[in-house]
Amino acid sequence: MASPKIIIIGSGLAGLSFSLFLTRLLPTVSIKIYEVRPSTHPSTSGTINLTPNALRVLDHLGVYKSISPQGYNFDNLTLLNHQFDFLASIPIAGISDFEYQSLRIERRIVHSALLQKVMEYGRSRIEIIYDSKCESVEESDTGVTVKFTNGGSITGDILIACDGIHSTVRKSFVKDPKDFDPKYTGQISLGGNISKSQIQKFNPNNNPYPLMMFGPETSTGANFMVWPYNNSGDQFTFFTTLSKPEEDKDGWKSYSDSKEFLKSIMQETFLSEGSPWNEMVKKTIELSDADSYRFWPFYLHSIPEKFYSEKARIIMIGDAAHAMPPSGGQGAAMAFEDAETLAYSLAVAFNTPEGGLGINTPHGQNILSKWSNNRIARMNTIQEMNKRMSDMRKGHSGSTSGVMFTVKVWAIWILGLLGVLGRTRRVVNNYDARKEAAVWLGEGVLAGLE
Ligand SMILES: Cc1cc2nc3c(=O)[nH]c(=O)nc-3n(C[C@H](O)[C@H](O)[C@H](O)COP(=O)(O)OP(=O)(O)OC[C@H]3O[C@@H](n4cnc5c(N)ncnc54)[C@H](O)[C@@H]3O)c2cc1C
Repeated sequence: MASPKIIIIGSGLAGLSFSLFLTRLLPTVSIKIYEVRPSTHPSTSGTINLTPNALRVLDHLGVYKSISPQGYNFDNLTLLNHQFDFLASIPIAGISDFEYQSLRIERRIVHSALLQKVMEYGRSRIEIIYDSKCESVEESDTGVTVKFTNGGSITGDILIACDGIHSTVRKSFVKDPKDFDPKYTGQISLGGNISKSQIQKFNPNNNPYPLMMFGPETSTGANFMVWPYNNSGDQFTFFTTLSKPEEDKDGWKSYSDSKEFLKSIMQETFLSEGSPWNEMVKKTIELSDADSYRFWPFYLHSIPEKFYSEKARIIMIGDAAHAMPPSGGQGAAMAFEDAETLAYSLAVAFNTPEGGLGINTPHGQNILSKWSNNRIARMNTIQEMNKRMSDMRKGHSGSTSGVMFTVKVWAIWILGLLGVLGRTRRVVNNYDARKEAAVWLGEGVLAGLE
């Protein structure tokens, strides 16, 4: 069996989970992960929602049981209109249908659980080198070389690009320049945190959390979510999606630099005179601490023809490959699915009887191409769903707004009743990365690896 030298750029959710799967499957592999962040600050903040397809991967890694008691576990999403009238309860997860509940959790908890697992493997198998910014990548017939901004460089057999939405590695081989950079979708997410005790009295019917509320117009807010994120359900994150024109780097910085400014956008949107919004929304904004506010502009990567380079020595996964707006809550889930399916595929490709670097053989290329095609098909499905979720959060300004809004509310109500939204969730939630990989690699082959 070969002992490939694997380089990973980025120690986010994709990089850590991929390294864990591959070391488990290929005992001789050596992995170096290069990360631009310092070791003292290895993760971004905020909360994410993990659906059963994501949790299944984390369970396969032995991480799920430790994180699940640290987040909010739930099955249904309650849809309401801006006046707090009940529209539907959408089943989005649940043990009986999907093996797992959905989990809302602080992203840093998931990241540190993965980091903890990496530490358990010891520095001899996976090494993380912090404060290392990848500047450029070049592949040849014999290897792949990375140059860093600090003047250093390293050569390995295969490089996995896990460097997120603003990936440097993506630029090294995605051919069409218009596909290099992510495109702005015209929406931002904005919100903060609040405790349940501060706002529960404004939920007189005890509608079960999380709450997703739809309003009439962008100018007065089109949507508002209230979502618990800790295990007891007494800490909430709240957020809205608003349509805003694109800013340059400095323009976006002016948003993130001032928490008071972020809160003032919420106040203008939801608390202006004559605002049609319910007390729960108004009080959440009024009582929230500006310090807890955050915002994210939504960007989207186009899906390239394949997720690997000409000589198959550079492969991209996670946001570097297919960053998407968080409207459908699937970005991290896709990174986890990529990681598990790719690890199985590379383990089989490297595990050749000749003991060579299997990725350069027809056998290896065939496996990689099947992996990439499977992931592209999956990504198209998810991005389509994501777009529907983004559209649902948009308002309709202008004279037709009243009609459009009524149509939207009825559509949500009817779709909720028919369980259509729930059925879409089934397609998302039921993906089992290991079973999918077995379809193109063969169950017997996978069983032989484990
Ligand atoms: C507001 C918001 C809400 C979200 N909610 C959800 C949700 O509910 N559910 C969900 O599944 N997903 C959600 N996502 C998406 C999810 O967070 C991402 O899809 C996921 O983090 C992608 O993982 P990744 O490892 O590919 O990228 P990242 O987590 O971005 O990691 C990339 C890593 O690469 C490093 N890096 C970057 N450039 C370089 C370089 N040149 N050299 C070295 N290192 C580098 C970075 O420092 C970082 O550590 C959300 C995202 C946002 C912004």
